[in-house]
Amino acid sequence: MDKPQSENNEFPPLSFRDFSTAFAHLSDSELRFSFWIFRMMNNQTLTRFFTALAELALKWNLPIRWAVKPTVFRVFCGGETIFESLKAVEKLGVNQIGAILDYSVEGQDKEIEFGKTETEIVRIILLAKENSNIPVSCIKVSGIAKNSLLEKLSSNKELNDSERREAGNLHLRFERICQAAYDNQVPIYVDAEESWIQDAIDRLVESMMVRYNKERAIIFQTIQMFRHDRLEYYKQLIERGRREDFKIGMKIVRGAYLDKENSRAKEMGYPTPINPTKQVTDDHYNTALELSIENIDWVEICAGTHNEESSMLLTELMAQKGLQNNHPHIYFSQLYGMSDYMSFNLAASGYNVSKYLPYGPVKATLPYLMRRAKENSAIAGQMGKEFSMIVNERRRRRHESFEV
Ligand SMILES: Cc1cc2nc3c(=O)[nH]c(=O)nc-3n(C[C@H](O)[C@H](O)[C@H](O)COP(=O)(O)OP(=O)(O)OC[C@H]3O[C@@H](n4cnc5c(N)ncnc54)[C@H](O)[C@@H]3O)c2cc1C
Repeated sequence: MDKPQSENNEFPPLSFRDFSTAFAHLSDSELRFSFWIFRMMNNQTLTRFFTALAELALKWNLPIRWAVKPTVFRVFCGGETIFESLKAVEKLGVNQIGAILDYSVEGQDKEIEFGKTETEIVRIILLAKENSNIPVSCIKVSGIAKNSLLEKLSSNKELNDSERREAGNLHLRFERICQAAYDNQVPIYVDAEESWIQDAIDRLVESMMVRYNKERAIIFQTIQMFRHDRLEYYKQLIERGRREDFKIGMKIVRGAYLDKENSRAKEMGYPTPINPTKQVTDDHYNTALELSIENIDWVEICAGTHNEESSMLLTELMAQKGLQNNHPHIYFSQLYGMSDYMSFNLAASGYNVSKYLPYGPVKATLPYLMRRAKENSAIAGQMGKEFSMIVNERRRRRHESFEV
């Protein structure tokens, strides 16, 4: 897919089919390694086996680090610590791609663990201040509070004494993190989560936007466009930002946890918050991009997507409005180990690009890795997209070496 470039563009034209640019960062042996990993994941039986094993390992505390760390973990995660992840940060940085260090520890429910997550995120903010290859930080609010508390806060149910204390701790933790982001001028993306805990997250994020986004967007909300109400939410937030004089930072994604949302709604007998079809989600996503560009004087966005059409549309909307490819209010973002053919080509054409770089102890990243494995397994006998891109590049390199 090639992008028609505007006349006075100083950057090379964008193509998502330029495989040599997309994979230039991988040596032949690294490409072969990725080929085998994606080939494994492209096999549905193997993927099912891996996810079942990972689930058992989590449940029974089985030692599978030795099998996971040198394989899927290596492809999708930076390392077990910030320090270990720095190699990946530098490698992305050399290619003009920023790294968003994502402390990917899920499913915690103790105050002491929430405190550790807070400390870790503040460390990332401080590191980002010194390291230009880390343009922003990110946080999952469920990493600093219990899901049950966020659910209760979202449904406006009355809290008991200990929940009130926990809610106080959550506010203080979130405030301290946002204050650190502001003091160091390192924007923070707050991830969107399940709809039944999202209202509490929205309220927290909005209150911090009002406080810290006076001059520029430091606090970023995330909207999931698979929810039918989010487009309207975004419109109203922009209007409110203009009215109350605070800037809007927005990460725009389609949304994970689709099955979870639909099955909970069905089980509990309420209408699903999810759009009726994928096409409606795509339309909402693209309209959110249009809305962002119309309001680009007031909003800063991160288009968190692996969808080629939406990413290409964003480049076209930018060109139509006469915005430079590297406009400071616009970032394209993908997950580490995924859609390199988009990230590296976008960066080579001068767009601002970043990649979420998850890290953490291997066992704690298993739920994340299971999601990546499912996402990359073959769909109805078709080759997975990532896998087919790697196959193409291997073919191109083989052909090139024959020509020499
Ligand atoms: C940088 C980055 C940050 C992210 N942050 C978050 C986050 O904070 N919160 C979060 O939830 N997710 C997040 N995600 C994941 C994201 O929401 C998507 O799951 C993932 O990127 C796949 O969507 P896509 O836009 O890449 O494209 P596509 O592959 O084109 O779209 C797949 C998506 O379309 C939607 N969809 C599929 N089928 C249907 C259907 N039948 N009806 C309605 N909708 C459907 C679903 O959202 C599905 O994930 C992030 C992704 C990236 C790259």
